[in-house]
Amino acid sequence: MKIMSAPNAAIYMVGGGGVGLSHPCDSHVYLIESSGEAALIDVGSGIEPELMKERILADGIALASIKKLILTHSHWDHGRGAAWWKRETGAALAVHRLGVDTLEKTKWPTSHVEKHGIPSEAAQVEYPLDDGDVIRVGALELEVIHTPGHSNDSISLVTRFDGRTVLFGGDTCFAEGGHGTVNAETDFRAYRDSVRRLDRLKVDVLLPGHKHFVMSRAFAHVALLERKLSGNWTDVVATRVPFFPTWWLEHDASLYDDARQSSTEQQNP
Ligand SMILES: [Zn+2]
Repeated sequence: MKIMSAPNAAIYMVGGGGVGLSHPCDSHVYLIESSGEAALIDVGSGIEPELMKERILADGIALASIKKLILTHSHWDHGRGAAWWKRETGAALAVHRLGVDTLEKTKWPTSHVEKHGIPSEAAQVEYPLDDGDVIRVGALELEVIHTPGHSNDSISLVTRFDGRTVLFGGDTCFAEGGHGTVNAETDFRAYRDSVRRLDRLKVDVLLPGHKHFVMSRAFAHVALLERKLSGNWTDVVATRVPFFPTWWLEHDASLYDDARQSSTEQQNP
C-alpha cells in the first residue's frame, strides 16, 4: 500500500497486524524505495511472513531489490522475522548495537511463541548501528537517532522525503502522544530525553511501529508525548482519546490561525 510518493522514490506500508495488513502479531512494516533500491523498516514477527511478501509483490516491488532490513528495535513483533526475510531477499540486517545479541542468539524470552515452546531462528546482523549513522537507500538518506526508553536498543529514523521530514518512530512515539509499552524496568529519564530530541525535529510525517500514521503536522503528536513525559507519572500512564477535532485544536494552536484565516477569506472573497 503506497502511502507516499515522490519522483523516483516511494514509501509503502507492507505489514501491520493492528491494521490487518499482515499477521496480527506483526508490528507495522514499511518499505522505502528509491532509484530501484529498497529497504524494509522492521520485518514483523516472522509468523506467516508470506502475507507480507504477497503485499510487496502486489505493489510491484521485486524482492531482490530489497537490500537492507532495518529494525527500529529488537522486540519480537518487529524483528523475529529477520532470518526469513534475509533468506527470501538476500538483504543485510541492521539493528542498534545493543540489539545484536537478541537477533543473533534469539533472545525473545517474553514473546508468546517462546512461552509456548515455539523456536525462533537466529539472524546475523551485518550492520550494528550507532547514533548518528546514515543509511542510504537509493538516493534517500536515513539518519539513525538512538532513542532509548521503550527499549535500550530503540532507534528512530529520519529522512527528508519530497520536501517533508519523515520520522519512522518505531515504538518510541505513536500518534496522539502515545508511547510504547513501559514497565518497572523502563528508564523514563532516557525515554523523556529521546522524545525531546524527536520533538526538536518538528517532523511533518510520523510513521510509527503501531497504531495509525500521521501524514502532516506530526510534530504536534510528538510534542504531546514530550509534554506527557515531562509531567507527572500519572500523565504518562493515563490514556485519554478526546473527540476529533477537539484533540487537534487542543494540541496544535496553529490550527486556530488556519481557522481565522479561512474565515477572513470567506468574508473577503
Ligand atoms: Zn517494542
